[in-house]
Amino acid sequence: MEKGKQLYEGKAKKVFETDDKDLLIVSYKDDATAFNGLKKGTIKGKGVINNQMSNRLMKLLETKGVPTHFVEELSERDTLVRRVKIVPLEVIIRNISAGSFSKRYGVPEGIEFKRPTIEFSYKNDELGDPLLNDDHALALELATEEEIATIRKYAFRVNEVLREFWSGCGVTLVDFKLEFGKTSDGKIILADEISPDTCRLWDSVTKEKLDKDRFRRDMGGVEDAYAEIMRRLNEALK
Ligand code: UDP
Repeated sequence: MEKGKQLYEGKAKKVFETDDKDLLIVSYKDDATAFNGLKKGTIKGKGVINNQMSNRLMKLLETKGVPTHFVEELSERDTLVRRVKIVPLEVIIRNISAGSFSKRYGVPEGIEFKRPTIEFSYKNDELGDPLLNDDHALALELATEEEIATIRKYAFRVNEVLREFWSGCGVTLVDFKLEFGKTSDGKIILADEISPDTCRLWDSVTKEKLDKDRFRRDMGGVEDAYAEIMRRLNEALK
């Protein structure tokens, strides 16, 4: 499958049309942004890692009952995916307090929740992705009640599967962001990516951060952290 016209260039990926109207090619870049695009940089090798990691995790999720957009890995940075209309909701699941949750509610990072939480924000860069609840999403007609129910069910299932998977790698899944899309026949499937750009991943023993927070917070060792998390994933899926 060959790349056709470029449809879109985002912060971390480019998207191309293909000969098949139901398939797209996503191409992962090394570019990184944070704080709604205010901080920009590159993380060398990130595109390759995020592409491969996301594909392997989506393959795993498919076997556990979560439909995804993944079709075929074409090269180190390029993947064939099903074309969807992205539901404009960022779906965030948290197992442990961190990031904006800690800031918003004035709690330290690292508090383990008795049960995972879910939250939605409106995917809208101009507005800075504001937090919203189910009723707001319905009022704005971002999704139907049934679609929201499906998204919640899949998001919690993704959490169960990935928590267990990462735990086997000596990694704690702190929180993550998912995006869902709607296929031409109206089905909700998992889209976008699952990577250290979109998940907080801490070494289970040392609590060392192995994700994009190293970039956001200028902690150094960003490339090494991405390489280490990929090494552990490869080891587990050998
Ligand atoms: N996240 C993301 N994209 C966003 C916002 C958040 O992938 O635009 C991920 C982030 O990497 C983390 C989780 O969602 O794993 C929760 O992020 P949080 O709401 O704490 O926001 P942040 O502190 O990253 O601004």
